[in-house]
Amino acid sequence: MASRVPLVDHLVLEPEPRLRSAVCGTCEADFLTRRNACASCGGTDFGERTWGTDGTVVAFTIVHRAAPGVPVPFVSAIVRLQDGPIVQSNLVDVEPDPAHIVLGMPVRLRTFVAGTDDNGVEAVAYGFAPLD
Ligand SMILES: [Zn+2]
Repeated sequence: MASRVPLVDHLVLEPEPRLRSAVCGTCEADFLTRRNACASCGGTDFGERTWGTDGTVVAFTIVHRAAPGVPVPFVSAIVRLQDGPIVQSNLVDVEPDPAHIVLGMPVRLRTFVAGTDDNGVEAVAYGFAPLD
């Protein structure tokens, strides 16, 4: 079985895919990316918090131009997780057409293999897919 690594630090793969934030030990502000200091209070002591997989779409755009090699069009969205933070991510498993995307649409975290290196190690990325 190929080993797998998350493409970004805030994606946890085991025991099941989840997003993880750094939580300020002073004011409890959440940040999905690593920080040296809290943007809210300046604190430097951080813990971790792991979030649920479900959320809703609060904004989206259809992207038609991207760097070479990036397939377009795709849907870039802002997703509010059911139990917490707001995440910018792509929507997956949906037609990149406004007729198929509704604000408030329920979505669930979905991982996929973004690439594989010469040793067979898979880089795992995430997006959010509509719930059926
Ligand atoms: Zn803080």
